[in-house]
Amino acid sequence: MTNTENQPNILISACLLGNPIRYDGTDLFIDNPLIKEWLDQGRLIPICPEVEGGMPVPRAPAEIRSGDGKMVLGGKSRVIDAEGEDVTNSFIKGSLKALKMALDNDCVAAILTEHSPSCGSNRIYDGTFTKTKREGMGVTASMLEQNHIPVFNQEQLEDLQKYLENGAY
Ligand code: SF4
Repeated sequence: MTNTENQPNILISACLLGNPIRYDGTDLFIDNPLIKEWLDQGRLIPICPEVEGGMPVPRAPAEIRSGDGKMVLGGKSRVIDAEGEDVTNSFIKGSLKALKMALDNDCVAAILTEHSPSCGSNRIYDGTFTKTKREGMGVTASMLEQNHIPVFNQEQLEDLQKYLENGAY
């Protein structure tokens, strides 16, 4: 849908809009009036960095080993899936595609799914596959932040609304 409101666009994790592209083939649809409003205005630009990075649906779950997305982008940590395969390159490729999508569409912010090794922006899984979380950002969230596109999670939509109202982007 085209933006009809002349308001800034927002990148969004595609799974939050109901696309069944998570590692296990499910979605994380979020039923929220702000999302509906922005969607109706044509301002949401969906992307799944892992699918854009060439990963299939379904796929083995992956976690960042001993680090966070910033360390992955700096070559100091790797993303490993539950079968032991190193999927770092796919994660980095997906993060670059997400950045390009954001820039091509003049997105001023992103709404990304919390806890994901790609999309998490506050807490991610710690790489042990024990459902343990640690502070840190995923690979795509780090890529966007490093390029001055602020990331909000699906619980921070009102904060995002205030950010947009302030117009300080
Ligand atoms: Fe959703 Fe991001 Fe995971 Fe894709 S990579 S399924 S958009 S959380």
